[in-house]
Amino acid sequence: MRRIAVVGAGQAGLQLALGLTAGGYRVTLVAERTPEQLRGGRVLSTQAMFGPALRIEAAAGLDLWADEAPAVSAVRAVLTPSPGIRALEFTMTLDEPAQSVDQRLKLARWLELLAERGGRIEYRTLDRVGLHELARRHELTVVAAGRGGLSGVFERDAARSSFDRPQRTLSCLYVHGVGSPDPATEPRARMHALPGLGELYLQPALTASGPCAILLWEALPGGPLDVFGDAPPPDVQLARIRALLLEYLPWEAELWAAAEPTDAGAGLSGAVTPTVRRPVAELGAGVDAVHVLGLGDAVVVNDPIAGQGANSAARAAEAYRRAIVEHGEAPFTADWMHRTAERFWQQHARHTVEFTTAMLTVPEHVQGVFAAAAEHGAVARRLANTYAEPSDHAAWLASPELTAAYLASLG
Ligand SMILES: Cc1cc2nc3c(=O)[nH]c(=O)nc-3n(C[C@H](O)[C@H](O)[C@H](O)COP(=O)(O)OP(=O)(O)OC[C@H]3O[C@@H](n4cnc5c(N)ncnc54)[C@H](O)[C@@H]3O)c2cc1C
Repeated sequence: MRRIAVVGAGQAGLQLALGLTAGGYRVTLVAERTPEQLRGGRVLSTQAMFGPALRIEAAAGLDLWADEAPAVSAVRAVLTPSPGIRALEFTMTLDEPAQSVDQRLKLARWLELLAERGGRIEYRTLDRVGLHELARRHELTVVAAGRGGLSGVFERDAARSSFDRPQRTLSCLYVHGVGSPDPATEPRARMHALPGLGELYLQPALTASGPCAILLWEALPGGPLDVFGDAPPPDVQLARIRALLLEYLPWEAELWAAAEPTDAGAGLSGAVTPTVRRPVAELGAGVDAVHVLGLGDAVVVNDPIAGQGANSAARAAEAYRRAIVEHGEAPFTADWMHRTAERFWQQHARHTVEFTTAMLTVPEHVQGVFAAAAEHGAVARRLANTYAEPSDHAAWLASPELTAAYLASLG
């Protein structure tokens, strides 16, 4: 039985640990928080998952909330060029519904499931020395510790990282009681773009107290929407959200009259620096040298504007699981690690970075796509499904020429 260590109990690490345990591997997972701490803690993400990632979870028997979580098959997009003005509107329909299950629920239950299935869990925060020691005791060590401190063992890849600072500040709040402009269309997500200021996303989701809505503000740093830098408690956050809605999106403000935070940990504020890291790190020297392989946010961090991180984490965990199984009894060399990570980068991760960058920077041809989406249902549909399958970005959004050719083909 091969001994594999996984560091980090997020979407990537837990999914990989559960998949390998089911396949007969002896897995040690290092987790920072117990299920109780996760359930009683602060929200972690807005975690919208699209069809391809949901299918991976379903195939692994990990879709434990598929019947309860709202199935979101469309997003209503509104462009607001100045406060209170709706300039463009369109509905983006997804070919397969998206779902969002509060990661506090999901990861807590997955940890329990791993223990029930015989996975060994060590609750501790690993530092570089501890990681080295762990890696020496295992045939393969995968670091899925998210974008926190331990990701520093992986060198930043300057050629693949376009940014050195956050492009948005983020504020996310889980709420009950938000109304809908058209209840007949529920569950539907809403997206408001305020050029030069930021974006707002509202999506139906499932939390411990039942179905809820999650709001994500993406604010340009230093702009008028960037007012959550002090990480306020949920009630203060809600009051500021109401004030901003009233000023910028008054039609949305009306729907928030009865809104309440879902719980004491319902809010999250911060920022993410989009970063790509080299996925293999060498720890120690000489006969003590070992290599570890990075997975998920530990090596590719995107701003959540295009909802790629958890989806990519799920897809990467599945790609790594398959690669490990296909490798049989052969040693997990640094070369194998490089090949495994590079294959995933080429097939998927680079597209998440390129698509997210397009959504953050909105070059002129992408602005043209939004305008075209308001005219042609086919454009809106293709845009929606590029969130689910970002490799399509390379086929139609990656350059002005590609976009022009596609739009011309619509006649
Ligand atoms: C506000 C916000 C909204 C988002 N919305 C979406 C969305 O809608 N859709 C989407 O796809 N993505 C979204 N994302 C991104 C998504 O949440 C992440 O990309 C995804 O959860 C990454 O999974 P991961 O397993 O790689 O890392 P994480 O989820 O960060 O998990 C890492 C785990 O490692 C643990 N850990 C860290 N350091 C150590 C250590 N030293 N020792 C032991 N354990 C350690 C942490 O406690 C954590 O449990 C959002 C992110 C944010 C911030």
